[in-house]
Amino acid sequence: MITEIPKQCTVLIIGGGPAGSSAGTHLVKNGVDVVLLEKEVFPRNQVGESLIPHIWKYTDQLGVSEKIEQQNFIKKSGGITVWNNKIHQILFAKYGYTRPGLHVERDVFDQILLTHAQEQNALVFHKVVVKKVDFSKDNPVITYIDKRDTINYEGKINCRYVIDASGHSSLLAHQFDVRETVVSELKFLSLWGYFNNSRYVGVDRQSHAISELSNVPPVTFVMSYEDGWLWHIVLREKTSVGLVIHTDKLKGLDKVQREAFFKQSCLKLPYLKELLRDAQFIENSLQFRPDYSYYSRKTCDKKYYCIGDAAGFVDPIFSHGVQNAFYNAAIASLAVMQALKTPEKSARIASLCENRMQQFYSFSRSLSLGDYGINGVSPELVKSLIKSMPLLELELILVASEMTNRSENFKKIAHQAGVWERLSEQHYDNNNGCISELHL
Ligand SMILES: Cc1cc2nc3c(=O)[nH]c(=O)nc-3n(C[C@H](O)[C@H](O)[C@H](O)COP(=O)(O)OP(=O)(O)OC[C@H]3O[C@@H](n4cnc5c(N)ncnc54)[C@H](O)[C@@H]3O)c2cc1C
Repeated sequence: MITEIPKQCTVLIIGGGPAGSSAGTHLVKNGVDVVLLEKEVFPRNQVGESLIPHIWKYTDQLGVSEKIEQQNFIKKSGGITVWNNKIHQILFAKYGYTRPGLHVERDVFDQILLTHAQEQNALVFHKVVVKKVDFSKDNPVITYIDKRDTINYEGKINCRYVIDASGHSSLLAHQFDVRETVVSELKFLSLWGYFNNSRYVGVDRQSHAISELSNVPPVTFVMSYEDGWLWHIVLREKTSVGLVIHTDKLKGLDKVQREAFFKQSCLKLPYLKELLRDAQFIENSLQFRPDYSYYSRKTCDKKYYCIGDAAGFVDPIFSHGVQNAFYNAAIASLAVMQALKTPEKSARIASLCENRMQQFYSFSRSLSLGDYGINGVSPELVKSLIKSMPLLELELILVASEMTNRSENFKKIAHQAGVWERLSEQHYDNNNGCISELHL
């Protein structure tokens, strides 16, 4: 095993989450040498446990699907939302998906992906923190702090391309000062924690004890309420519960008060309180993320690509985060490989990649944030994306856009693009996924 960080490489990746590890795998599989620096020791804690079936096409490309299947993560057949008291159920199988969504412990899931990248020959170094990247010379020079020893050692590495997959710390977007918080009336933060012995919502719309998981598949449960919305995601040994609420709700509260607020909210909310009636909160499991829905004005340039949460983050109501990390990684890797073959076209390649990435973020923001539209979203890009979607996938998105009151802008764009009308008959025949009863 190589322990010394090389002085140069072709592609340097910052961060080993799903975006960084999958970019690493794509590149090394295509013969590009990669060094990946990750500041934590894996497995590391991460939120974002509900995965939609779209991820499988990427894990297949990476050659890691079998390793994921072997983990026996919880398989989910869809989702149930209670939004403004209207109940919707989505079943992926109705939209042609033959593989399930998953509820994953992200520390385990992310480690599988990173170990896989290592096994394909990406050089991965943990406990190494990238500080900055100097783009003033022909090739980028990365400064890092190596924390593997008791003495923190500062080092430098030269590369031809940098991929910034540093997650919400968005290293390069901060360095270039291009990171914007989405201007929105919905100023949200998230507060989440874990419970033992929670009941869960089954595909049969009933509540079940966790011991029934092998008999009745679960769904992800999402509900709006006066402060915002919540998720309930059953995992193998515990359950993740999160509140996505207006920033004002936690103003001035310290850690202890935040925990009290969280527990009280969980115990009083309809449906959720039923699911948690026999559950125990896992002490010290409460976490908090204040910086919500942001994007970067520039994600790609001749010498760098920012991918995954390093490029943007959208309220996770439709669980697009990991899918987007995979997507960004796939197209950025293609772009880097093309640029390595034709360096004189690097700027053009980066600009095409930027366009694709902004397209998905625009789509995701228009679907997930009610009053987006103010900054950073291009309706034209969203239109061209949804026009190119396979029919069933588009129908799933249109049905999803009916589940909350967040997608008005998306619906407008879908009408303008002419896709809504094309699908509405079939769509309404399905009754929009609207159901009348939920017995928890
Ligand atoms: C509250 C909440 C709920 C969510 N729910 C969902 C969900 O249900 N489904 C879903 O798909 N997505 C969800 N997401 C989004 C999802 O978690 C992210 O989109 C996803 O983790 C992005 O992957 P990534 O690889 O870009 O970043 P990350 O997973 O954050 O990985 C970035 C890595 O970079 C490392 N790093 C950071 N800075 C440096 C540095 N300077 N040097 C070296 N390494 C560095 C970090 O240690 C980290 O390991 C949620 C997000 C939040 C905040």
